[in-house]
Amino acid sequence: MKTWFNVPENSDFSIYNLPFGIFSTAGHHRRAGVAIGDHIIDLEAVAQAGAFHSLAIDNSVFSDDTLNRYIALGKATTITIRCLLQEWLCTEGSVLQKNKQVFVAQADATMHMPVAVGDYTDFYASIDHATNVGKMFRGPENALMPNWKHLPVGYHGRASSIVLSGTNLKRPKGQVKPADATAPVFQASARVDFELEMAFVIGKENGLGNSVSTEEANEYIFGFVMFNDWSARDIQAWEYVPLGPFLAKNFGSNISPWIVTTEALAPFRVAGPKQEPAVLPYLQIEGDQNFDVNLNVYIKPENGEENLVSESNFKYMYWSANQMVAHHTVNGCNLRVGDMMASGTISGPQKHQFGSMLELTWGGKEPLTLANGEQRKFIDDNDTVIMRGFAEKDGKRVGFGEVSCKILPAD
Ligand code: CA
Repeated sequence: MKTWFNVPENSDFSIYNLPFGIFSTAGHHRRAGVAIGDHIIDLEAVAQAGAFHSLAIDNSVFSDDTLNRYIALGKATTITIRCLLQEWLCTEGSVLQKNKQVFVAQADATMHMPVAVGDYTDFYASIDHATNVGKMFRGPENALMPNWKHLPVGYHGRASSIVLSGTNLKRPKGQVKPADATAPVFQASARVDFELEMAFVIGKENGLGNSVSTEEANEYIFGFVMFNDWSARDIQAWEYVPLGPFLAKNFGSNISPWIVTTEALAPFRVAGPKQEPAVLPYLQIEGDQNFDVNLNVYIKPENGEENLVSESNFKYMYWSANQMVAHHTVNGCNLRVGDMMASGTISGPQKHQFGSMLELTWGGKEPLTLANGEQRKFIDDNDTVIMRGFAEKDGKRVGFGEVSCKILPAD
């Protein structure tokens, strides 16, 4: 595929990607856009140029401040629109080439939350992460709980505190119980940690009482973003029994601004791990269900340089997104457009592939040394954590850009 548009070499936003987002420019409202190279295709402007006339769709969806109504048009329509944009970007004299006003420099735009997230579910689907955490908390004998290989373990999180990359977060305060104390104390968390995750956006409603099969799940997964699920390990350790994560998790999670569609990720599909023992029939699925996406995490201290601390990959997932959708709806739970489901921390089998400080420093016992000589057990005040993800194969690059957040001092 060759485009007449100038896309810098190694851009995450190649002609093969075309991810969707919400942006605004000075003096003009939020609206839908598609990233290409260092620019954004303004879909409101494309619609105003009459380019979507042949499609029987309400063009006002492109002027909304979220993508929810656009995504709800369904895969058949959103795939058609993405393919049309791709075709126009590769055809001399196309409507896009004739209407240069539809291109906005990313440097002149502000990105916003791409969807209104109604409900958020977080899974725990990386076997290396679950095994590492199990070893630390329960010992090597019982690292994985008996249910872990039979269902994708998850919990309902909180949607209100999912924020965009660049929205910085205050160190949370809460109850922690020091190991040698008999009663808890109230303080700022001393163990703020990142979790390297991917999340996907639900694009279709199943309606209360209706289950979605692993095959049908393809229609329900619009696309993926990078997801940093911030965690306060000391608050978590005291509060989580017996109902699971609560205030240790809901003080904030950051997402990357562009939703990369499952169609753009198709060339990077790979087989997942063999699931042993065999899963129940409602969770079974054929074909390549994982995605080969490189995931890197950097810590940037105040006035310091970026330090690469983790190099993981989305392909290490034990449970796939399709299985998560099937499991989530098997009891009739209704999913809604804009709902977000996160993978859980994505760790690989090797130490430099672990997706959290909890694992990288083994509970704080083996601190990391940064380029400036400082050590980190967890994340310090004014540290910025940056995650970047991209897939690359046969000269095609499809990337997510980045998700970044600085941890500010507690009040
Ligand atoms: Ca998580």
